[in-house]
Amino acid sequence: MQTHILGYPRIGSNRELKKACEQYWAGKTSLTELLETGKTISQQNWKLQQEAKVDLIPCNDFSYYDQVLDMTLTVGAIPDRYQEIAVNGSYSELDLYFAMARGHQKDGLDITAMEMTKWFDTNYHYIVPEFQKNQQFRLFSNKIIEDFINAKATGVNAKPVIIGLITYLLLGKEKENGFDKLDLIENLLPVYIEILTELENHGAEYIQFDEPFLALDLNDKAKEAYELVYSEIRKQFPNLKFIVATYFEGLNDNLSLATSLPIDVLHIDLARSPEQLDEVLSVIPDTLSLSLGIVDGRNIWKNDFEKSLQFIKRAANKIGSERIFIAPSCSLLHSPFDLDSENNEDILSPEIKQWLAFAKQKVHEIVLLKKLASGNPDYPTLQLLAENKKALENRKTSTLIHNQEVKNRIVITTDEDAQRKNPFRVRKEIQQKELQLPLFPTTTIGSFPQTKEVRGWRAKFKKGELTAEHYDHLLKKETERTIRWQEEIGIDVLVHGEFERNDMVEYFGEQLAGFAFTQNGWVQSYGSRCVKPPVIYGDVHRPHPMTVYWSQYAQSLTHKWVKGMLTGPVTILQWSFVRDDQPRSLTCKQIALAIRDEVNDLEKAGIRIIQIDEPAIREGLPLRKSEWQNYLQWAVEAFRISASGVEDSTQIHTHMCYSEFNDIIKNIADMDADVITIECSRSQMELLNAFADFKYPNEIGPGVYDIHSPRVPSKEEMLELLKKAQAVIPAQQLWVNPDCGLKTRHWDETEKALKAMVEASKEASLTF
Ligand code: GLN
Ligand code: ZN
Repeated sequence: MQTHILGYPRIGSNRELKKACEQYWAGKTSLTELLETGKTISQQNWKLQQEAKVDLIPCNDFSYYDQVLDMTLTVGAIPDRYQEIAVNGSYSELDLYFAMARGHQKDGLDITAMEMTKWFDTNYHYIVPEFQKNQQFRLFSNKIIEDFINAKATGVNAKPVIIGLITYLLLGKEKENGFDKLDLIENLLPVYIEILTELENHGAEYIQFDEPFLALDLNDKAKEAYELVYSEIRKQFPNLKFIVATYFEGLNDNLSLATSLPIDVLHIDLARSPEQLDEVLSVIPDTLSLSLGIVDGRNIWKNDFEKSLQFIKRAANKIGSERIFIAPSCSLLHSPFDLDSENNEDILSPEIKQWLAFAKQKVHEIVLLKKLASGNPDYPTLQLLAENKKALENRKTSTLIHNQEVKNRIVITTDEDAQRKNPFRVRKEIQQKELQLPLFPTTTIGSFPQTKEVRGWRAKFKKGELTAEHYDHLLKKETERTIRWQEEIGIDVLVHGEFERNDMVEYFGEQLAGFAFTQNGWVQSYGSRCVKPPVIYGDVHRPHPMTVYWSQYAQSLTHKWVKGMLTGPVTILQWSFVRDDQPRSLTCKQIALAIRDEVNDLEKAGIRIIQIDEPAIREGLPLRKSEWQNYLQWAVEAFRISASGVEDSTQIHTHMCYSEFNDIIKNIADMDADVITIECSRSQMELLNAFADFKYPNEIGPGVYDIHSPRVPSKEEMLELLKKAQAVIPAQQLWVNPDCGLKTRHWDETEKALKAMVEASKEASLTF
């Protein structure tokens, strides 16, 4: 029996990588310093796994921004617009890489970033590869090989983790008509062969290909492609040992395809799909070993050793323990770093802490499971098994978890609670009279720059270095300044700026019952952005209003409308670590009722426009289509429950980013928000077509500029996008806004961009 890790978090135990990247981008540190940080993190990760006695330790799981972009650079799929940077000797390979990730507006160049989208059903985002019809590939970056060599220097004969060829192609986007990305196999395979040749020459034994698409719905062409690619690779490398990793779903109808590939080890996700174990065991050929993804890489609960040991035993009885690998369900990229750094009992109580395991703890769990399963465990090992049992027992019976009032309220919630008083048609008229907004009303998505100062105040306040009054005063000043500035440049619907919030989910979780927090439980979201998901451990309710104070304050400063700003139930669910002892749908409904209370209280406090952000609705979609309807039904219902307690005159907005809407547009319309704002600019308004084709009846604000890039768009550019929008959506339905909140931007970028945006809106209404 062997243990292996599919991937380890790479941000560093104190988010060192985030800090190093941001310093480098700001021109404050050198490339050497950044590379040094990267190397140190990798080495620490390797050592940690080495000391834990993991058998196969991954390399190339480290990345400066994103593992898919790494692969794009490795195989030289560099879009033409970066050519000038690629050939310019004053830019390093990493500069080119960051330009692709973030856009580049410097030295007289002005190049947009590549598109970014969610990594399957996680909150991690990857950079979407762009393919042309005659896309050529070549070995451009040596990162994979260098990483392997570096691991070796640390004393680890690592297992390179490489995005499988089919998955890589399927993750990409065809930028031209007239071809299918899978047609590119022929061009791409030689580069994979070249990489493998190098790795073999350097002494690699095991290679892990990540092929999560094998656990998704595949068409016949993709299925054939899998057979073709892996038999070709096998032919060329009879001696390398290939692990194909599937995760986030069960193999289902791809079972026979996956088990018949000429590979050495197949990894399956038993956290997401435990029922697939018996199916796999019944068909697995003698030549194939099985990697049991048994420790949940997507959640923070301690593994249930007794249950896992049963799985291992079942597999061992059938195929023999020497053909078994024990692993996390997926890469630990989606887990926070280390529970040991949670030592503030006021933040995370010891009772809850004993239920949890982060990446480092999961590594130890995996090693321990192997020990326990290998027979004759020693006394300390048995001791750990007993401790595990005790912690799990405590969690099952803890009084922290259950609240009868919450359970009762769920029972009496009816369909009517998910229904506005009147249909949109009627509401629209009332709202028009009430709100008196112009054509192409301008607004923003909520947050304004979270400057160093703002974050500094919060940090000081938390450390007790700033009194509550002083902190409050500073935030009020910042809010007022933001209100005044929005008034000044002529935005129609203002926001308060969200300066009091650390994060759109954490802020709410901190005030809701049933949520726990960590000090350092950061998980990478995209590039240098990390999030610290709360832990939903018990029944959720809202003990007191959460946002009324700030919204009311902001509204008191101005005669313009200030939009109340909330995070929706599905997004709170989706971006938290969720309890695994009841269905997600039930947890979501509990959150929905809590948000409903807040919406109603905002209305009572005189807030007439309330936005309930649901950027995560789409990412919550099950990966298998057969399960979509069930999810969409409860997710949309949760949103409606949260939004439907108000009068017709109160305008409900929602916001979504990084979504494609084609296949869920009916459900989006079912949400029945009066206004929806969406991310749209990176796709050049393409995403709007779904709304146009559906004849989406409510109002809609397609984002006219990309806030994920420091690049400032011109008025002309935004006007162009607005014209595109107007060509497919009636002007009376359109709003003008950025793609998303501005919290990651600097003020100077924000000021220029928003001024131009307001001008674009004015010009659009003049020429209308
Ligand atoms: N209101 C949030 C903000 O402006 C929305 C963020 C999001 O959609 N991710 O920051
Ligand atoms: Zn957004």
